[in-house]
Amino acid sequence: MSKKGILIVISGPSGAGKGTICKALLERNEYYLSISATTRSPRKGEEDGINYYFLDRDEFKTKIEEDDFLEYAEVYGNLYGTPRSKVQDMLDSGKDVILEIDIQGALRVKDKVDDGVFIFILPPSMEELKQRIIKRGSETPESLMTRFKSAYQEINYVSKYNYAVVNDTVDKAVRKIESILIAEKCRVDRIKEKILDSKEGLIHEQLYD
Ligand code: 5GP
Repeated sequence: MSKKGILIVISGPSGAGKGTICKALLERNEYYLSISATTRSPRKGEEDGINYYFLDRDEFKTKIEEDDFLEYAEVYGNLYGTPRSKVQDMLDSGKDVILEIDIQGALRVKDKVDDGVFIFILPPSMEELKQRIIKRGSETPESLMTRFKSAYQEINYVSKYNYAVVNDTVDKAVRKIESILIAEKCRVDRIKEKILDSKEGLIHEQLYD
């Protein structure tokens, strides 16, 4: 994959607050948030093409066969996948792209995209995580328990990520992620070619971003 933008993967257990953090990040920055496809039914207020592309299982499977997904995973009985071509187009056009995906999906992306930035969102405590999952109120008691148990196990995967950000307040978490991205854009392995170009007096404008 040749890229100009940075691929940012925001992941972590259900209830850690990934969605809220991504929303706040987008209000303050010019990132592109990838819209996933899913076989789960829309929740109240969710719209096709805005929150997700809602597909049936057959449609989703056709897309898998056509290799349309950068990654996909089964999460709590539903399939979720990241549309590959839109993400690639955005990166090629210089946009930084956020994927808000589960841990299985994040690890698959990590195998394919070695210069992505992988950020794990941690809840402030397990008790807080439980309360957040309950407060969501969109789940049955059984699925609440499943989500809580798997969230507990998923925390172990933090060691596979580049960064861990505790979501104690959304504002603090967002500021930490913004700082991570500022630092990533200064990494020599990302900007080496631009610096070498600039030796001839041709200062690349992206060095000043
Ligand atoms: P929800 O059904 O609550 O919207 O999402 C359930 C889980 O699926 C969340 O952890 C969310 O991050 C994850 N998810 C959403 N889109 C994708 C995707 O495209 N790929 C993967 N692997 N997970 C996703």
